[in-house]
Amino acid sequence: MSENFKDWSQKELINQIKNLESKLDDILLNKDNANFVQFEWAGNLGQWHWYVKENKVIFNYKKVETMGYDPKKVGKVDFQFFTDKLHPDDYDRVMDNMRSHLSGKSEAYEVEYRIKHKDGHYLWYYDRGSVIKRSDSGEPLLLQGIVFDISESKRIEEKLRYLSERDSLTNVYNRRTMYIKLEKLLENNKKQNELFSLIMFDIDHFKEVNDQYGHLVGDDVLKKLTEVIIDDKRSEDIVCRYGGEEFFLLLPNTNSESAINVAKRLRKMVKKMDVPKVGHITVSMGVVTYQKDETIDEVIKRADDLMYEAKVDGRDNIKF
Ligand code: GH3
Ligand code: MG
Ligand code: MG
Repeated sequence: MSENFKDWSQKELINQIKNLESKLDDILLNKDNANFVQFEWAGNLGQWHWYVKENKVIFNYKKVETMGYDPKKVGKVDFQFFTDKLHPDDYDRVMDNMRSHLSGKSEAYEVEYRIKHKDGHYLWYYDRGSVIKRSDSGEPLLLQGIVFDISESKRIEEKLRYLSERDSLTNVYNRRTMYIKLEKLLENNKKQNELFSLIMFDIDHFKEVNDQYGHLVGDDVLKKLTEVIIDDKRSEDIVCRYGGEEFFLLLPNTNSESAINVAKRLRKMVKKMDVPKVGHITVSMGVVTYQKDETIDEVIKRADDLMYEAKVDGRDNIKF
């Protein structure tokens, strides 16, 4: 091949560029490998260098091995190799974090995100890095960072969150979460004038069920009742256990008329429900629609008062 590149064919030119790129990769890799922690005790620690101008990412193997790829086979790895695999819900947050750091607004780039494994499932990564070299004019040239696979701790975190939000018998939301959900609904009402309604349920003569058949059978009634409500409700509706045998159904975006219709339908469904040993049960309900500027306690009290009226009026009843 001629020494003068002007004589080269397009194919030769491309080959030469590839050749040079690969040499650059080798140089960068050798240089970086010296800096990477290669100890067994480093566990799942991934390390990376991102050469911004060249858009080359040099990494120790952990970072791509955890994602199911063979580091020797992945070929050219640029910044997009990773960002293309980010969970769509995390993408903007990660990019904003990186942009903010590159422009010097934050001390470090630091995020947790989901990244797609080769098999299609997502892993959780904790990623933290920083610009370690800038040009004279302040352009970022080189970033250095570490990354951990935190999928296992995220799974535990998620499980703990689930347990803390739920009632352990029925798995519906507990009273504390009900207040959090109501705060959100109140906020939406203030911001967007979005209506919402509440149905309060209380099982009629439940004490007799316990007395007659025992607590465990009573527990089955509670589970069965919540299953019926969950099967019937829209996905956005929220079921909560307020107390022993008292439940709330929160209905976002629902006016009074629709809420009353839901209550009527549920009353019928509960009556039809066949519980082993016990047979049939009934519920008394109070239905309210949020009124402007009410507090959470005020709207709950209105539902409670109506539910009580339904009891006084003979039970198996709805008041609104
Ligand atoms: P009313 O029609 O007036 O509502 O009568 P009631 O018997 O349902 O009401 P009361 O408040 O007197 O009794 C509620 C009962 O609910 C008493 C309590 O033992 C029972 N209960 C509360 N939590 C649980 C639970 O987790 N499991 C079971 N099995 N029973 C529970
Ligand atoms: Mg009660
Ligand atoms: Mg009761």
